[in-house]
Amino acid sequence: MPEYRIAPYAGWVPLPNGLLVARGTWYAVIRGPASLDVRDQLMVDGRSVHTTNLNTVLVDKLVSHGFLQTQPGVATYRALLAAESGVGAGESPQRTVTVLGASDLAGEIAKILAQEVEGGETAVSMRTSLLGPVPAGIVVVVADGTEFGLLAEVNRRFCESDTTWLFVDARASAPALIGPLFTPGVGCLECHWMRRAAVLSKPAEYDQYLREGRSGSGGHWQQHMIAGLAAALVLDWVSVEAPRSAGTCLELAAADGPSVRRHTHVPVPGCAVCGGEMADG
Ligand SMILES: [Zn+2]
Repeated sequence: MPEYRIAPYAGWVPLPNGLLVARGTWYAVIRGPASLDVRDQLMVDGRSVHTTNLNTVLVDKLVSHGFLQTQPGVATYRALLAAESGVGAGESPQRTVTVLGASDLAGEIAKILAQEVEGGETAVSMRTSLLGPVPAGIVVVVADGTEFGLLAEVNRRFCESDTTWLFVDARASAPALIGPLFTPGVGCLECHWMRRAAVLSKPAEYDQYLREGRSGSGGHWQQHMIAGLAAALVLDWVSVEAPRSAGTCLELAAADGPSVRRHTHVPVPGCAVCGGEMADG
């Protein structure tokens, strides 16, 4: 007896004469005898229906809208994007993601990305050395305490080659920073450091900390959160035609309990490395 389950993050509610089914921004109110059969089956365990005695036209419709699936797995970020906004579904542009870093955090980011893009056309790879040839595609640079002294050079090389890259700063800096996501025309790490140091009372010393700071590694919960947020920004970039994540910087604070704030990096005019010109549009 074929069994269907509702898709991850799909929802439903029983109504007196039918039910409402929803997935992302799509929803439908279904009434009539066929809907009552589906509703009554869903009432049993909340998430599965058997096709015996069910109206196949209705089941097919629920499957075509992604509400029911035969083998639902964990929802990928791409599927969630599609459910939320109708973008990113199906298309899988040819993209390359390279994670640079030697830490467990770098490995975790690469692992999540590989799982999320599995079966698509996006390729994910890893390299422990931050220097070396500039990879094609989008690059994730992970700093968690052992890379001091290399970051300015990495920034300079990526600026020269117009590389799109995400900076993940998980050094003891509180908060941890996931971003900015640098793309040609939205500034560089030099501007970012300038802006962050400028608002503090010891800008010269803090600037040096941003460039060369070292630290111990964070705990597991923090590592997983940082890795998940980093993966989300990269997946947004590789999944949609007009990515909304350029310049985005997520700030993960922990002092008052975990919180995430989103900023958009603005280049510093006249920046010695990128010039600080804003991209048109
Ligand atoms: Zn700059």
